[in-house]
Parts: sequence; C-alpha cells; structure tokens
Amino acid sequence: MQLTDTHCHLDYHKFNPDREAVITRAKESGLIRILVPGLDHRSSRDAVQLAESHPLIYAAVGFHPTDLNKFTEDTFANVKELVKHPKVVAIGEIGIDYYWVKGGEARKAQHTALERQLAFAEAEGKPVIIHMREENDAWSGQASIDLLSILVEWHNDLVRNNPTLSQKPGVLHSFNGDLQTAQRALEMNFLIGVTGPVTYKNAEEKRDLLRQIPLDKLLIETDAPFLAPVPHRGERNEPAFVRYIADRIGEIHSKSPAEIAAVTTANAARLFAWGD
Ligand SMILES: [Zn+2]
Repeated sequence: MQLTDTHCHLDYHKFNPDREAVITRAKESGLIRILVPGLDHRSSRDAVQLAESHPLIYAAVGFHPTDLNKFTEDTFANVKELVKHPKVVAIGEIGIDYYWVKGGEARKAQHTALERQLAFAEAEGKPVIIHMREENDAWSGQASIDLLSILVEWHNDLVRNNPTLSQKPGVLHSFNGDLQTAQRALEMNFLIGVTGPVTYKNAEEKRDLLRQIPLDKLLIETDAPFLAPVPHRGERNEPAFVRYIADRIGEIHSKSPAEIAAVTTANAARLFAWGD
C-alpha cells in the first residue's frame, strides 16, 4: 500500500516532543510522501527545513487567511525566496476564512492576499492549496461565492497565459463546501481534498457528496494535528492515520483501500509533479 498525505502540519508545536517517531510511524504505515503546507513565513521556512531533512517530506509555502497579520512586504519576500527550494511543490495554504475572521475590511484583506499569492503561483508555475471556511461552518455562503469568483478570474487568466497550470491549478483542501462548489472547482480542474470528518458517524451527507466526485479528482489528507479520523477522533492526528480516510473513501466508491491509496497517490503525483 502506497499512501500520500497531501496536507499535514508536521511543523506544528504539538509534534515537538516526538516528531521523528511520528514520521517513522508514517513510513511504517505505507506513506511514501507527506506534504507540509506553510501558514506564514516562519512555518513555511519550517516546512522547507523538514523537507530538507526527510526524503518523503515536501513543502508548500504561503500565508493562511487567518495568519495575515504576518503578511507584509518583507515576509512575502521571505516566502518568495523559499519557493526556489527544489522540494517546494506548491503555494499554500492560502484562501478564505470567514469562520475566524469577521468584518468587511478583514475580508477585503483576505481577497488581496489571496490574489497576490495566486499571481505568485502563476509566475512560479506552481499549483495552489486552497483553504475555504464559511462563517458558522455552513457548506455554502459568502466564502464559497467570493472564493469561486476569485478562482474563476485566476483560472481564466491561466488558460490564456499558463495553460499547463490551468490543467492542474491546485486542490480545495479539506473540502467542506456543497456539491455545486465542488463541481465548479472540478470544471476548473481543481482536485478535492478529503480529511477526517468523512469518517465521522454523522457525516452521511458528506459521504453522499463524495460519492459523486470521480476518484481521479480526490486527494486524501490528514490536516494533522487537527481533524483526527475515527477511531482516533478527538486525539492528536498524525499522517499514519490517513489510511482511515482511504478506508472510508473505499467504502464510498466500492474499492479496496489499496486501490484508493494507489489512485490518490497517483493524483497527488500528477498535481505536485512528483516523478516528473
Ligand atoms: Zn491546514
């Protein structure tokens, strides 16, 4: 079984006591690659350092929408330096978060930071890892509307100026939107990232939605240390647990966990240009 965890915050302080043991358990559970996204300039740097010291780890760099108090010309310049590292495969995580960040001015700041980082991704020819969270954790609302309008404009631009990237522009990570948003993202060739909540007892609606997404459009991600899947719900999450998500997608799509591991690993390799 060859698994890939395309979204894991291994730099997070909760892994300080036993990070090496966590990585060893990941390898023992069949993980061949782990992608660590950045949240700001410091965590982007930490992600790159982890990638440097472990063959199976890769990094993404960027500013998360809830960390924009760290987004300045200087720190953005730092991130633009980091992207030159050969193990940086994406820009992220970037996006829109109306759950934690309220108010019109703060929303506008998120749009500006997102647009600047999308332009940066286009210039670098790198895919993006997109975070989207609605106010009150709804499946649809203003965050989906605003995100889609920004992504549509960016994607139209890619079609004209960077057709290769327009074919694999990125992933909507830990997707919690509705089917219509998913379909519009798929039309722009985005992939859909699936995390631990798909395993929760009350997630029947989410599983119904994922049944309608073709397997070649899915990535599996832990978002560790957050969102631990059943049977570890409530505990610290770790990359080895990505297999519980593969198991659940297998049930949804009537495939074996090994088939899900293989197809999602291949999807990730296509998006992040692993093996090119
Ligand atoms: Zn994340």
